[in-house]
Amino acid sequence: MEVLTLSTYWSELTTSLEPYVPGEQPKDRTYIKLNTNENPYPPSPKALEAIREAAGADLRLYPDPSCDALRETIAAYYGFAKEQVFVGNGSDEILAFAFPAFFSANRKILFPDITYSFYPVYAQLYGIPYETVPTDEQFRIDPKTYAVENGGVILPNPNAPTARFLLVNGIKEILEANKEQVVIVDEAYIDFGGESVAPLIAEYPNLLVVQTLSKSRSLAGLRVGMALGHPDLIEGLNRIKNSFNSYTLDRLALAGAVAAIEDRDYFEETNRKVVATRDRTTAALRELGFEVIDSLANFVFVTHPQKEARELFALLKERGILVRYFNKPRIDRYLRVSIGTDEEMDALLDVLRDISV
Ligand code: PMP
Repeated sequence: MEVLTLSTYWSELTTSLEPYVPGEQPKDRTYIKLNTNENPYPPSPKALEAIREAAGADLRLYPDPSCDALRETIAAYYGFAKEQVFVGNGSDEILAFAFPAFFSANRKILFPDITYSFYPVYAQLYGIPYETVPTDEQFRIDPKTYAVENGGVILPNPNAPTARFLLVNGIKEILEANKEQVVIVDEAYIDFGGESVAPLIAEYPNLLVVQTLSKSRSLAGLRVGMALGHPDLIEGLNRIKNSFNSYTLDRLALAGAVAAIEDRDYFEETNRKVVATRDRTTAALRELGFEVIDSLANFVFVTHPQKEARELFALLKERGILVRYFNKPRIDRYLRVSIGTDEEMDALLDVLRDISV
């Protein structure tokens, strides 16, 4: 048998595994940061207070490995049982568990051709074959094109980075066409006006709904995500989680997340502000000649018929405004702009007017 040299092995690894490239977290100067879909408002004061309290209490002790208090809070919020809830360090961790839990070398996964770029990374990492399903020229998703025999489907709703969304009936169509397969709906952006399919978990044991506290609850830095589904799916996630020794949420995250979910008033108030700013920004960008895909998320996906997206990205960055540019086929004419405060969006619009877009 030929012995593989370390350098050959290394070059094979680096060509076969293409890691995810996260949005920039710049350190060179202060930007108006509209590039990673964070919430511009602080987390609930009650969540901050709970985190402070937890920090003063039992950090000496390990956290609860089954995260019962948080799972019960989420279950109560949705009217489900704790056994239908899983929590993780951000929804990314839950997705990282879901791929090996539900898919494998002979259980293929389908997702849209333009979507969250972590999906192909997980598939490659775990040796799961995947097929990308074409979206139309406006990135619309056709539920009829999602049917798989052995494996499942994952899609964000609203989709990222396009903001295209399916109504509940569209998701139902996918669930019906894949009754014996696992369908994961990644609802990272659902709270900004979309309708969650979480209630459907009672009817569809093949549905896993994944959500996050990173966006609508302003807690990207705390790393908390949740999944809702039939207890069998939750058990599948637990098996993967418990195969890694130390992955659970820390005490600060558990305490902060419980308080954030319980503080419905604050959540609704900040979401209302983000939605109003998004709708106003959409109209203003259209007035400036941008094509803006209707969005129910906390970002907009925009293109300008006369301006290069890459150039706009660079000009905005020079002027202290960071948006997201994807140097990828089909979407390299677009920018994804997260919704900030009204003042931040006004600053963006001012710069765009100034550079005579
Ligand atoms: N899904 C989608 C579609 C996302 O855009 C993101 C954020 N980048 C995530 C999941 C992960 O979010 P988090 O790990 O912060 O919960």
